[in-house]
Amino acid sequence: MFRSARLKLTAWYLVIIIVISGAFSLFIYGGVTADLNRRFMKIERRMQGMPAPPPKLQKGFSLRTDLAAAQHRVLLILLFANGTIIAISALAGYFLAGRTLEPIKDAIDEQKRFVADASHELRTPLTTLKASTDIALRDKKLTIKAAREILQSNLEDIEDLESLTTNLLTLAQFRNPEQERSVGEIGLEEVVAGAVKKIAPAAGEKEIDLKVDTEQVKITVSREDIEKVLLILLDNAIKYTPKNGSVAIRLAAEHKCVLIEVADTGMGIAKQDIAHIFDRFYRADASRSKSLISGFGLGLSIAKKIVDKYHGSIAVESSIDTGSTFTVKLPL
Ligand code: ADP
Repeated sequence: MFRSARLKLTAWYLVIIIVISGAFSLFIYGGVTADLNRRFMKIERRMQGMPAPPPKLQKGFSLRTDLAAAQHRVLLILLFANGTIIAISALAGYFLAGRTLEPIKDAIDEQKRFVADASHELRTPLTTLKASTDIALRDKKLTIKAAREILQSNLEDIEDLESLTTNLLTLAQFRNPEQERSVGEIGLEEVVAGAVKKIAPAAGEKEIDLKVDTEQVKITVSREDIEKVLLILLDNAIKYTPKNGSVAIRLAAEHKCVLIEVADTGMGIAKQDIAHIFDRFYRADASRSKSLISGFGLGLSIAKKIVDKYHGSIAVESSIDTGSTFTVKLPL
């Protein structure tokens, strides 16, 4: 598809070049031949008043033939110039068409990968749901108690699916740059306080100590976006930190940027996983194997998309069984 689109675009470039260069060539040919005609006629008129040259000189001398030869040469030069222009344009057009279509091709490839990944992730819980419902329906001796248990487990799977689709929608929104949110100057310390308040019950359940260290910082961003990043980082910090651990959030203004740090005393991330945790659907083996830790591996990729949107950066330092520190930097 990409190749045929590239060839079509090249053909369109060529049509435009041929029309322009053809029109110019006709104009030049018309002008030059008219000028030649005028000059030759002038010479012819002048020669009529002169005595006839000796027969030796007259041999092979004809103004009309010279005029036709000159016109022919002009035509040849123009044809050669046009051929060269068309050949160069074809090569340049093919190259430029490739360059023009490259980002479109990348976007389509990315779209395909997104759809494939999303379908794959949706398929697994759906298959489990279908299988358990099927088995329950075929069981003639199914008791009400057992049916309730199956329904309860199915409900949990449905809730997971709901959260997965919400995350996928959020990710899809950030893939569409035209979907702008309202941006304005906000006090980041308020947003941090709001996020901490939302996450506090989850921290309380695990008796995790939540430390907050903020200063007043004003920044022009969308409140919704920044709150999302904070909630993702705080939610992960609590999720991946065992009972009685601690999570600290720090907000500070550094020269020309805002620094948001979320540090935990959790399970940490293995070195080989760090390079991938911002990829869509990536979950470190440790998190996958601990079936109690729910998640789809979408949070950090959403956080990265948001931070990228504001030309900021997100990084992590971590060591196994000691903890992780995520650092977000946003330009002021
Ligand atoms: P999810 O948490 O839903 O799996 P994320 O994209 O938020 O997805 O995180 C990707 C992976 O990064 C997680 O599966 C986990 O392995 C690792 N991770 C993220 N935050 C932490 C953290 N604070 N401590 C340890 N591992 C983390």
